[in-house]
Amino acid sequence: METSLETATAHEALSWVFETFGERTALSTAFGPGGVALMHLASQVNPGAKVFFIDTGFHFDETLDMIQRIQTRMPVDIEVVEPTLSLERQALIHGDALHVLNPDQCCELRKIEPTKRMLTRLDAWVTALRRDQGPTRAKLPVVDVREVDGRRLVKVNPLVTWTRKDVWQHVHAHGLPYTPLHDRGYSSVGCRPCTRPSRDGTDERAGRWAGRKKTECGMHTQI
Ligand code: SF4
Repeated sequence: METSLETATAHEALSWVFETFGERTALSTAFGPGGVALMHLASQVNPGAKVFFIDTGFHFDETLDMIQRIQTRMPVDIEVVEPTLSLERQALIHGDALHVLNPDQCCELRKIEPTKRMLTRLDAWVTALRRDQGPTRAKLPVVDVREVDGRRLVKVNPLVTWTRKDVWQHVHAHGLPYTPLHDRGYSSVGCRPCTRPSRDGTDERAGRWAGRKKTECGMHTQI
């Protein structure tokens, strides 16, 4: 069944994951347009679908505003998950510029740790990853069976064949909310200190960790 989903539509992949894993399924989002489209589809397939958002403590206000905007627009149940280490403790232990000095460690503490903790409660993790987002994502399958800390976890990517244009068409066609940062030149939005506006038409993630070799936080490469 899992391999036959390679040609499934987003609706079909979502139906399969909710039917197979039920309450042990959740979507993750950082409220980019892909995540918004995914939540919209999931809320149609399974009203009240569980969603989690990792609040690193470094998000833009416009991103945080999306929690309320989405919940008033569609039936999804958004859980905000915070890192174990508070920003204050992180600053005491590592200084207040870990994102500059060692962004991999900062992402580990603020994104990977809370994500892994959340995943211990799940059997299926649904993402808005797409193949056209860059070379590290170009070969992603629809269904990706992973082992995380000794447990089997099924990662499902229903939008994997969608393009950026498809995502925006869906968002606009349904009048869905999106962060106004996208109208100010941010093609991809992550944490405030590590995100710059970018109008690079070929790489939508060019504004993330701009000027560094880093292209991923590790959430989707380590897990
Ligand atoms: S994206 Fe930047 S601020 Fe956010 S967790 Fe990673 S290094 Fe830290």
